[in-house]
Amino acid sequence: MEKKEALILNIKDLKVEYRTEDGVVYAVNGLDLEIEKGKTHGLVGETGAGKTTTALSVLDLIQSPPGVIVNGQIELDGKNIRGLKDKEMEKIRGSEVSMIFQDPMTSLNPVMTIEDQIAEVIEYHEPGGYKEAIKKTHDMLTMVGLPPKRGKEYPHQFSGGMKQRVVIAMALACRPKLLIADEPTTALDVTIQAQVLTLMKELKTRYDTSMLMITHDLGIVAEICDKVSVIYAGRIIEHGNLEDIFDNTRHPYTEGLFNSLPNLQDRKAKLKPIKGLMPDPTNLPSGCPFHPRCDYAMDICSKEYPKKIGRNDQHFVECHLYNSENIIKGGVIKRG
Ligand code: SF4
Repeated sequence: MEKKEALILNIKDLKVEYRTEDGVVYAVNGLDLEIEKGKTHGLVGETGAGKTTTALSVLDLIQSPPGVIVNGQIELDGKNIRGLKDKEMEKIRGSEVSMIFQDPMTSLNPVMTIEDQIAEVIEYHEPGGYKEAIKKTHDMLTMVGLPPKRGKEYPHQFSGGMKQRVVIAMALACRPKLLIADEPTTALDVTIQAQVLTLMKELKTRYDTSMLMITHDLGIVAEICDKVSVIYAGRIIEHGNLEDIFDNTRHPYTEGLFNSLPNLQDRKAKLKPIKGLMPDPTNLPSGCPFHPRCDYAMDICSKEYPKKIGRNDQHFVECHLYNSENIIKGGVIKRG
């Protein structure tokens, strides 16, 4: 049995809604997520599955209105951080948990020099004043492969890949316990993507930071993650370590994600995208929300939400195919 490490993040039964004029968007629907200390945990799913909403909930950055965290427990390093006062949460953001967004300009101020922006974060969280913060900023710029003298420049003078390096420097400046990276390389060219991922991997090890890597790209998961949670319609529908998910896939949606990847060994092989679209989050299907798209759907699938079933003590799936009765009938996917 694999030894379970202490948790850096423990989310239980998280429910988040956006109450709009067009109806209630059920973005996150009873999500459980455990991230072990020191691990890189991939959160994988299509656009609209609830990945970013989950991350923003951890940082208490859900825009309200229309967003409301309806239910759930969020523990960061053993401490409940749900419902903290704004001032307390501000202290935690940056020093204990930081986030890297897909578009670096979300985090950068166009009218401030790069070094002043990083130094501002350091000054807010650490003693020592501006001079000390600038010194540390220059160390951080060197660490992410940028010459410190470029700190005097503004974001528009940097390429996309360099801006993302600046954001990484800013996110790690105060040595957070948890780094949340939301599709951090999606907006970058493929070669730059690889460089940024390698850099994140190195820095994560150097600073002993735990990481939540949000992505729709299973290639990135294979490259960087230890554990994987697959999210669909605001719930984790399969969870396991890399081997479980890649070599012992159980959920038909996870299977669909793999089938929709290009096959580099057989370039003539056609992509097999998952049929249909993500469900309308204002009107989620009954039972298993994947049933309208699922090739394996049975009668029960539109009636009851499936229970969580463990293949072993760390690989879980929510799918009726794995009810003992259906396993006996042989209705079990086996990849690899
Ligand atoms: Fe498909 Fe049913 Fe499993 Fe949902 S519960 S993934 S519909 S087989």
